Amino acid sequence: MDFLNYRSGKLYALDYPVEALAEQYGTPLYIYNEDYIKNRWIKYDQALNNRKHLICYAIKANSNLAILHSLAKLGAGFDIVSQGELERVLHAGADPKKIVFSGVAKSVTEIERALNVGIKCFNVESEAELYRIQAIAKQLNKIAPISLRINPDVDAKTHPYISTGLRENKFGISYQLAYDVYRAAAELSHISIEGIDCHIGSQLTELSPFLDSADRIIALFEQLKLDGIHIKHIDFGGGLGVCYKNEQPLEIVDLVNAISEKLVNYPEVEILFEPGRSIVANAGLLVTKVEYTKHQDDNHFAIVDAGMNDLIRPALYNAWMNIIPVNKHESNETPYSYNIVGPICESSDVLGKNRQLAIKQDDLLAICGAGAYGFSMASNYNSHPRPAEVMINSLEHRLIRKRETFQSLWDGETI
Ligand SMILES: *Cc1c(COP(=O)(O)O)cnc(C)c1O
Repeated sequence: MDFLNYRSGKLYALDYPVEALAEQYGTPLYIYNEDYIKNRWIKYDQALNNRKHLICYAIKANSNLAILHSLAKLGAGFDIVSQGELERVLHAGADPKKIVFSGVAKSVTEIERALNVGIKCFNVESEAELYRIQAIAKQLNKIAPISLRINPDVDAKTHPYISTGLRENKFGISYQLAYDVYRAAAELSHISIEGIDCHIGSQLTELSPFLDSADRIIALFEQLKLDGIHIKHIDFGGGLGVCYKNEQPLEIVDLVNAISEKLVNYPEVEILFEPGRSIVANAGLLVTKVEYTKHQDDNHFAIVDAGMNDLIRPALYNAWMNIIPVNKHESNETPYSYNIVGPICESSDVLGKNRQLAIKQDDLLAICGAGAYGFSMASNYNSHPRPAEVMINSLEHRLIRKRETFQSLWDGETI
């Protein structure tokens, strides 16, 4: 995270002392770098400058309105997986014609709403969904633009919880069935076949799974073409990994070039990507305060005010996230190998294990790479209000979501 640096032992995010931000906005606190987010999206966009394309930010990675608005202003498209995300992104100013709708469980109301606002495409994940969309579109007297999300049955070589492209996953339509489902779709009165879609997993660091799935998608594309089914766009999904520790993910431009190279002979085909993590992960940090240190036998705990309710990745996926001090002490503190744990009543409430740190009560720590699947997966478990979120850029810092109040914890409840 290039925008983080130490000056005289104090951590800065861009030109803002993190300690001062924490003082002003409180902890736990999410901080995001707007310039970084924009630049990452622009990298995808520019790599495809020479052909028709649309980069649809997968908003589940981080759906704060300020982030969505900032990307919408650049001309971004969006990948959504629920009506909540649809309403959110419309509220942030997105162009409906640039929205693609993924997700395995689209309800009748969700489909109606998406048809009424006129989205770019439904990424259909089952045959049953296709027939539901046809029926609703007929009722509303609209033509539904669709692509089928194909499960190319490739191993993404990532954590099983974030691998989605294998035959046994619940996502998409199996490669073997895809051709027949397209043939069936072509016969439906209120369906317009627009594209082919895939998304094989998340935090991919190697190129080969992307290329393998591209090959299978292109084979299907050609087969359909022979049959008179003309595909206008191919959506290669998201999934590009980032560096949390020492991973060496592909550069955005290398991924995009390798894929578009596969389609040089089809310049008329629009290319879509749906990146989430690779846009926002390393734009964000979570600042947390050490409430207590606790030393028992050989166990050293730093008990902090952020927990798995604020940032679930370490507990859910065993993800390793870098944890660094906000003030490096000149140090009279004894360094220990700490387990950094949160306030939640679960043994899995761990943010980091065996971190060599010289810290004391009331110190601040920054958890890096927290921009993706951080706040968007946060909950109120143990009745903790969710943290505040702050946006920084070269000009200013500003609150983009206020810390939840205690009152908000029981909003909508009655005795
Ligand atoms: C989650 C998801 C994405 C984004 O994945 P990242 O790994 O965050 O890039 C893209 N498309 C679909 C369908 C998804 O479910």
